[in-house]
Parts: sequence; structure tokens; C-alpha cells
Amino acid sequence: MSLSTRRSFLKAAVAGAAAATIPVAARGQVPAPAKTGRTDGGARNLIFLVSDGMSLGTLSLAHQFRSRRDGRGTAWLDLYRDPTVRRALIDTASASSVVTDSAAASSAWGGGLRVANGSINVGAGGVRRQPLLDAVRSSGRATGLVSTATITHATPAGFAVNVPGRNDESSIADLYAQSGIDLFLGGGAKFFDATLRSDNRDTFAEFSRAGYEVVRNRTALAAAPAGRQLLGVFADGHLPYALDHASEPDLASTVPTLAEMAGIALRRLASSGGDRGFALQIEGARVDHAAHANDFGGLIHDQLAFDDALAVALRFAAGRSDTLVIVTTDHGNSNPGLNGTGSAYGETNACFERSFGFRQTNDWIISGLAAESTAGAIRDRVKLATDLAITAGEADLIGRALRKDYKDAYRVRTSAIVILGQVLANHIAVGWTGISHTSDLVELAAIGPGSEAVGGVMLNTAVHSLMRAALALPPV
Ligand SMILES: [Zn+2]
Repeated sequence: MSLSTRRSFLKAAVAGAAAATIPVAARGQVPAPAKTGRTDGGARNLIFLVSDGMSLGTLSLAHQFRSRRDGRGTAWLDLYRDPTVRRALIDTASASSVVTDSAAASSAWGGGLRVANGSINVGAGGVRRQPLLDAVRSSGRATGLVSTATITHATPAGFAVNVPGRNDESSIADLYAQSGIDLFLGGGAKFFDATLRSDNRDTFAEFSRAGYEVVRNRTALAAAPAGRQLLGVFADGHLPYALDHASEPDLASTVPTLAEMAGIALRRLASSGGDRGFALQIEGARVDHAAHANDFGGLIHDQLAFDDALAVALRFAAGRSDTLVIVTTDHGNSNPGLNGTGSAYGETNACFERSFGFRQTNDWIISGLAAESTAGAIRDRVKLATDLAITAGEADLIGRALRKDYKDAYRVRTSAIVILGQVLANHIAVGWTGISHTSDLVELAAIGPGSEAVGGVMLNTAVHSLMRAALALPPV
């Protein structure tokens, strides 16, 4: 498929994200000459999107949920209709475990080196590799990080800094202030605000002194003047789950969505310094948190919010031929799946569709309960959040977990939120394998210049190499 055909396909695919029927790409057209701003065939821009902790089951469920509820698919799987999209399965292991954490996973992409879980771009013997955005900045391009977690969390940090321990997020905030990275949008005020930090260091003030515009809510973000570096921090910790965000007017009016942050980041970076090119990481972080908690409402709505941000990125790339877009995840997590239910699985669809009525996450349900909550109070709160009528016996299991008096055959299942997740599986048919990251090979898709190197089964570190090559950065 020619570039111009690919662009019209992408436009169609993105338009399909807002329409009931999805146009199928025109095929077999005469190739038109590529219109690229570069002569070396490389990428001017890189957009790297991560749905953190996204098992293949999550990708499938999001597509099925959106198809059945809204009559349209997800931008991610609709993209696969484009024959120029390249896909690979990624081996996500770290230096210390077959099962990676987000710090080691992002270091593999960001620094090209497998490190032990917990470390960010610091390998055995203290070896440090240059983070990708540092190399991108040296090439004259603009750089940015967007996340629904604390912006100092492991996945954004893996593109930006070297630190031995991922939990030292205050130090990561301090390093960001000196990094020269042009844009940060996410949560984590507790790592920047002098009144919230144990050492009382005022990192917000350091950003201001360095010339950054600092914004703290959705309105200020939309009004931020162009042409300046930007730090936007919209919560003390992580941003709220998308489902709770949408259901609570206070949150919806003050905290931007991931798609809004992505759109603003792309506009600012693309116009920064006369289109000098940019690299941007966009993370949907809380899919991982919801998976750890076996929280289906949290999971599916954050995956869909991530998909909306992906649609924004694809819309940007559809109008040009100089942008490499990569979408992937760092590892699976708890592997959710829709289980066939009833005779000949005939009750499956109705079970799944009960989840369409969820108004709040399981996190919201459990945060309003306590050890002394009665079975009646538990049933009422579950009903309020999900419209599901759980049984008295099911409420009793959750109550026992709240009182730390619950034992499961699989010993890791003890917390009240995880037991709630198992109870809801009786009603919506979505079950989980555990509460942790998994070793699954994961999906990666890429489109645009440099994507030709994607295919087969690849190590996560190979993704670093192909990004460097696409951007014509010197190899490590
Ligand atoms: Zn995790």
C-alpha cells in the first residue's frame, strides 16, 4: 500500500472510531510518490503508546465491549485492517525474572538494556545507558511524557532517567527538572510539592525557574501559552480511573482525560521550534493497577480511554508520512478473560453485557467499605456502583476479606477488592488468573517510517534499537 493510500486508510480507520460502520481500506491502488519531509526515509517524529499491564485478554475484551456496546471497534484492532501495519510478539523478560516489572520493561525500550526488576536504566555493575529521550533531545527534536500515573512512575521514567530504584520518585522529579524534556503531563504532585515532600524541596518552583509553565488543572492546561516548556500535574498521586473520572463531575472538570493530554502534547510538540520533530511517550498506566486488583470496570474503561488516546495519535499520523507510531504494552497482568457461561455458552453475552452498566470501579466500592461493613451495606454499595445484585453469601465472602478473615485455595487471593473481582465473575463471566504481572508474550503494532523492522518474536530491547534507527540516532 502506498503512503497516500495508507494515509487515507488511516483517516478511514480513525473516522471509523466515531461511526457505527467501519470503512474497509481501498486496496490495489496505484502507488503514489511518498511525500516525506526527510530524504533518508527515516522518521521525524515518534509517538510511543503504552497500555501498561495489558494482557491480550484486555485488548480482546476492550474490542468486544466497544463493539457490542457502541457498535464500533477499538482503534487498536481496527488498525490491523491496514496491511502496512507491522506486528510482533514481544518477549518482555527482564534481567532478573521471566516476569518483568514496569521499570525493567521501560528500561529495555528506553535504554536498550535488560536490567533487574526495580531498576530504571541501571544495569549490572552500575552500567548506565543513555535514556532515549536524552538522545532524541540531542538530535534537536522536542520531547515529552504523558501518563495517567504519577509522571515520575517507572514507565515514563524509563525513557528519561537513570535511577537504581524506581520508588525514588522525588529524585526522579528533581532529575526531570534538569532533563530539558519539553513536556510532562500526568499525576504525582506529592513528588513536586514542597508541602507534600518529606524533604520540603520545592520542585515545582525549580521547574518554574527553569522556564516551564506549570499547570495544575484541566482548565489551566487548555489555556497554557504555546511556545514554553510545560509541566502539568493533575493529582497528588495517580490520576483517577477513567470510569470514576467520568462519573464524578468534580474530577471530570478538573482532570484531563488521556486523550485530551495526548492531543495537547502532540499539538505543542509538533509546533515546537518550527517542526523540528519530536518523540512522545503516552502511557495508559492504570490498566495495570486495575488488573492487579481484578477490577473489571477500572480495567475496561481505562483501556478504552487509552484507545481514545491512540485514535488521537493515529489521526495526527494519518495526515503525514514522517511519524512512526508504536503501540504496545510492557507485560501482561492477571490475564482477564470472558468465560463461556451456561448451556452451550448461551448465557455468556448477557453476562458480559451486564458490565455495560457499571458506574464506578471496584476501587470506589471497596474504598467506601470497612471491616465492620454489614453484608447489607456491601450489597447496597455493589448495587449502586454496578447495578448488580450480589447474593448474601457473596457479600459475606467480601465481608470476611474486609475483616482479613478470608482464605482462598490460590493463596494470593485474599484482599477484599480481589474477592469482589471473583464475586463479580459470577455475574459478568470475566475471570482472572491471579493478581500479578505475567510472562505472556505481548502485542506490538507499528506504522510509519521505521516500522518495517517490526515482525516475528522480538526482545523488548530490540524495540529500542528500531526506534533509534528510525530516528537516525547514533546506535548505542
Ligand atoms: Zn504492575
